[in-house]
Amino acid sequence: MINNRLSIHDYSPSYDLYKKDESRLAGSFDSISFPESIEEIIAIYNTLSAHGTPVTVQGNRTGICGGSVPLRGHVMSLEKLNQIHIVECLNDYCLINVLGGTTLEALDLFLLKKGFFWPPDPTEKQSTIGGIIATGAKGMTHSFYGESKKYVQSVTYLHPSGIVKIVTKDDEDFHDLFSSEGMLGIILSAELIAIQIPKESLGIGFFFNSWQEACDFGEDVVLSFNLKEVGIVALEFLDRQTLTIIQNMKATASHLKEIPSFPDDVHALMYIEIHGSDEDALMDIAEELLLLSEKWGSDIDSSWALSGHKEISVMHTLRHSAPESVNHYLSTLNNNHAITKLATDFSLRSSQIKEWLNYCYDKSKDFNIPICVFGHFLDAHLHINLLPDNLQKYKDSITLLDQWYAYAAKLGANLFAEHGIGKLKRSFYQQYSDHEDLKSFISKKHIYDKHGLFNPGNRFD
Ligand SMILES: Cc1cc2nc3c(=O)[nH]c(=O)nc-3n(C[C@H](O)[C@H](O)[C@H](O)COP(=O)(O)OP(=O)(O)OC[C@H]3O[C@@H](n4cnc5c(N)ncnc54)[C@H](O)[C@@H]3O)c2cc1C
Repeated sequence: MINNRLSIHDYSPSYDLYKKDESRLAGSFDSISFPESIEEIIAIYNTLSAHGTPVTVQGNRTGICGGSVPLRGHVMSLEKLNQIHIVECLNDYCLINVLGGTTLEALDLFLLKKGFFWPPDPTEKQSTIGGIIATGAKGMTHSFYGESKKYVQSVTYLHPSGIVKIVTKDDEDFHDLFSSEGMLGIILSAELIAIQIPKESLGIGFFFNSWQEACDFGEDVVLSFNLKEVGIVALEFLDRQTLTIIQNMKATASHLKEIPSFPDDVHALMYIEIHGSDEDALMDIAEELLLLSEKWGSDIDSSWALSGHKEISVMHTLRHSAPESVNHYLSTLNNNHAITKLATDFSLRSSQIKEWLNYCYDKSKDFNIPICVFGHFLDAHLHINLLPDNLQKYKDSITLLDQWYAYAAKLGANLFAEHGIGKLKRSFYQQYSDHEDLKSFISKKHIYDKHGLFNPGNRFD
């Protein structure tokens, strides 16, 4: 069916891009639309629901769990639903209204000109505000600034009944929408709370001769400083294999050229970011950090120190290049579309990181599957990416991942800390999630979406 009035297009291979997200998982669909306004979304949805056609909502498909991958029915891409306007701007905060398909990049640029920023800052700038809310995405500074939810004042969404609702923190629906992965309705717009860009910011990259020493340093930082008080907002870990993959991608990707070269034979990088208002105070903390890093074998002459928004944005490009290069590397390793991204999203306790990494590095050697590790040290939330180069190794990787889930569950980890569940992790979710949590989500889904029209296949079959 091609419905020109509503711009619903039948599937054709020219839309194949929309079968997949960054996880490399691929699905299929019968029709697709690219609504540009809320009115258009409502009209399209009403037509589809009258025919009982399931709808998979897509932001920019940067998700890595297959949440926006359609299994059947209709794909509604919100990539053209973007608009930003100011509701009110005072000295210390700015309230802005954005449509659901607005990218983080567009929002950041808009706010930067006014001296503000939106603290939930997942590294992927092409992600949309609707996608960020729907996945509950987090940035590297989240343990300092707090959950994304804190910076959302209200959400306007299309309830599966066809009614548009505006919900705030006082409403249960508001909280339900975070991490709902498009299963409880379509996020049409949101009012976001932006805050002033910190007057001073420092970013320091410390290089280590082993991942263990980098972790010792990280633990020492956590124990030696009152992180909130001194303004340490991020402590990010990248292991040797990750740095090698980034270095290789840098050779061909022009947007990564500004990242400085890593010192030779380095085994791990710890990136620390500090925000504050007093330049001298920040410099004092930097001095203390440098001394502490020496204790763990880091050569302070090889460290990187950057200050101010512009310089620090290079470090954000570096941090983003970790998952970006790894995803790219995976695509060069194999053309087999059955091979998807496989990575952990576990958050443990800081004191468990070394034991956990030891176990994972050893196990990956036993299985002969290369891995690379990067992520948020402050939350003991390191993403371990498996890099199988053929179908047999991919199958072995799933077996290995299964063992990691079991072990991390024993350690009491949060197994689904940041990226969602989507389709790729649903069997793990069903196996390891709290039984009550699963039951409560299924009953919520039934209340919101009796006929199961939204995002079939996410979280449960
Ligand atoms: C290189 C790279 C770096 C990344 N870094 C981070 C990171 O630091 N932190 C992090 O948390 N994630 C990160 N991600 C994952 C991803 O960017 C986030 O999950 C992001 O929130 C997805 O946004 P999206 O607009 O692309 O959503 P999509 O991938 O299109 O969709 C994700 C889910 O949200 C639903 N959805 C999307 N829009 C709406 C809407 N308007 N209404 C209802 N449901 C909707 C979809 O149905 C789907 O279930 C990264 C990904 C990549 C590729």
